[in-house]
Amino acid sequence: MSDLPFDPTLFSRAILGWYAQSGRDLPWRGSRDPYRIWVSEVMLQQTTVAAVIDYYERFLQRFDTLDTLAAAPLEAVIDQWAGLGYYSRARNLHATAVKIVADYGGDFPKDPTLLQQLPGIGRSTAGAIAALAFDRQAPILDANVRRVLCRIFALQLPPRSATAEKMLWEWAQQLTPEQQVHDYTQGMMDLGALVCLPKRPLCQECPVQFLCRTLALKLQQQIPVREQKKAIPRRCEAAIVVHRAGKYQLQRRPIDGFLGGLWAFPAVSVTEDSSGEGAVHQYLQQSGLRGELTALGSIRHSYSHFQLESQIFKVQLADCAQVAEAGKEWKTLDELANLGLHGAHKKIYYRLRKDVV
Ligand code: SF4
Repeated sequence: MSDLPFDPTLFSRAILGWYAQSGRDLPWRGSRDPYRIWVSEVMLQQTTVAAVIDYYERFLQRFDTLDTLAAAPLEAVIDQWAGLGYYSRARNLHATAVKIVADYGGDFPKDPTLLQQLPGIGRSTAGAIAALAFDRQAPILDANVRRVLCRIFALQLPPRSATAEKMLWEWAQQLTPEQQVHDYTQGMMDLGALVCLPKRPLCQECPVQFLCRTLALKLQQQIPVREQKKAIPRRCEAAIVVHRAGKYQLQRRPIDGFLGGLWAFPAVSVTEDSSGEGAVHQYLQQSGLRGELTALGSIRHSYSHFQLESQIFKVQLADCAQVAEAGKEWKTLDELANLGLHGAHKKIYYRLRKDVV
């Protein structure tokens, strides 16, 4: 028995009717292929639809099936992901493809509980794959749906709090219909993306306005309740941009560590109050490099659990300097444009580009 304040079929019927008229036409929409749905869902986890479309199509040209993805080296998957950010998603995609081939003979499990046990597939992504590919009655709770539900029920709690999370999943479960789950799920995603917008929801165009508690209370600007931001620690490094004969020295980070498999300029850790120059001199000495040192300022970049401040030092080697260092490669600025640099060092690349132009 539902403890909802309204009949859930009123809600799902309104969503389905609206979706049939106003749903978005997206490249992954026509497909019931769980592989394609999964790739789109993972790409959309931290990235906007507009930014994802090109990447999605290129990714599927390169890895057109789950088997192709599973058979590829992880480095190739990370390189293909270059520019999308949040690279743990690429590592998890690869790990999941390998696991599905090994454990399920290459076929996606249909049960959301099993899907959830795969690397990088949380409850909402598992629900989306099960609902969109297999029409299973599985709820989702992505950012758009979370906002819609917070507003429908005028939830006055931070939406990521444990209590809110529990309530939202229960509502999502109770509202998901038994039939037409595919269209209903797409409809909920689209309603959040097109109508129930974060800042100015378009309530007059909303198919479920007659059920919305937030609209009745005129609390659209207060709900969802803002989450308190947690303070994150700061780490500092000196990034060393070694340049010789039009090329820059890069190295791939160890595949199994943080930001594993991504490319980076050589860097050394420094303390918050140090200038970094001393550490760079020491690095150059140890590496047998001699050249003109220029400070290029600093950049900041936020990762999920810390903020990185990179002081940038350019080292200009003589064009004829002999350098042979294992694990390092030399790239032109144009080659850097398409390389999977980690976020902070992508900003260094932009800084270099600006200096050259
Ligand atoms: Fe969102 Fe407005 Fe629709 Fe309520 S009526 S769900 S606030 S768009």
